[in-house]
Amino acid sequence: MRDVIIVGGGPAGLSAALILGRCRRRVLLIDAGHPRNAVTPRMHGFLGRDGRAPGDLREEGRRELAAYGTVEIWDGRVADAVRAPDGFRVVMDDQRRATGRRMILATGLRTDLPAIEGFSEFWGHGVHHCPYCDGYENRDRPLAVYGPGDAGKGLALELTAWSRDLTLCTDGPSGLGAPERDRLARHGIRIEERAVARLEGEDGRFARIRLRDGDALACGALFFTTGPCIPSRLVERLGCDLSHKGTVPTGDYEETNVPGLYVAGDASRRVQLAIVAAAEGAMAAFAINTELLREDTR
Ligand SMILES: Cc1cc2nc3c(=O)[nH]c(=O)nc-3n(C[C@H](O)[C@H](O)[C@H](O)COP(=O)(O)OP(=O)(O)OC[C@H]3O[C@@H](n4cnc5c(N)ncnc54)[C@H](O)[C@@H]3O)c2cc1C
Repeated sequence: MRDVIIVGGGPAGLSAALILGRCRRRVLLIDAGHPRNAVTPRMHGFLGRDGRAPGDLREEGRRELAAYGTVEIWDGRVADAVRAPDGFRVVMDDQRRATGRRMILATGLRTDLPAIEGFSEFWGHGVHHCPYCDGYENRDRPLAVYGPGDAGKGLALELTAWSRDLTLCTDGPSGLGAPERDRLARHGIRIEERAVARLEGEDGRFARIRLRDGDALACGALFFTTGPCIPSRLVERLGCDLSHKGTVPTGDYEETNVPGLYVAGDASRRVQLAIVAAAEGAMAAFAINTELLREDTR
């Protein structure tokens, strides 16, 4: 019986494991090794490591955890997790099993890309979803926003903080009314309603949108709107509430509606940035250690 099982070894899970290891808790961290930001060569906005490769953080995190003898790491995927009278049980794809008094799901999220040729090829290389992560590197460049129908107008307006050369591609009729069109026009945002055929690039980086009529729209980068995120199956399996965005509504310390279960990082309700994920992992760890101390010193 471990004190805590952490599923997910991104910034949230690693940070939780570090705090709990320092509290001398018996921790099992299990990671399948498929982080959400694997496609991007640089991670921005993380104080102390702005612009570094995201894999560096994970490697260094694991190296630091090696100093804490009570923290064990299993590489692999948790296939199933259930609540048990004394805590939580997990079973791995390779049938390894473990039990913990508390559990943190730090499993991140999945983002489905628009079903258009070129999106997966150039994601992270000129095609982005988060202005906070990649807006600065594309400041003052001609930018396209991909958002079918009226979905992209908010993102287009948001991007005016980074560029004033913006085209909103609605990939068909936008359905935007006159007031919305006026608002976009007042901020210099052009609307392109022609259907998109594919994204094209040069030297492995996105360069232009090819429209179905053959015309091309050259731009420095493209930002796209994402639909609801797809959480790990474990979130629902363990009975967590889910928001319409696909995230788990957590409390101040990342606790969920399921007693003893915490959800930290992208999978929980807050801003989806690596530094926030790490902070959430630390918050969950703090709360769990406090709970276990209370239980053990009753
Ligand atoms: C393209 C892209 C670029 C980004 N750029 C930035 C940036 O510049 N700056 C920034 O701050 N943020 C950026 N982000 C967001 C950032 O990646 C996330 O906020 C951060 O990774 C969240 O950390 P996490 O620990 O919650 O999840 P993740 O880092 O996604 O880690 C979750 C881990 O859980 C594992 N896992 C999931 N299910 C299971 C299971 N069943 N069993 C075992 N393991 C499992 C996964 O394999 C993965 O390793 C970017 C995201 C994307 C997609």
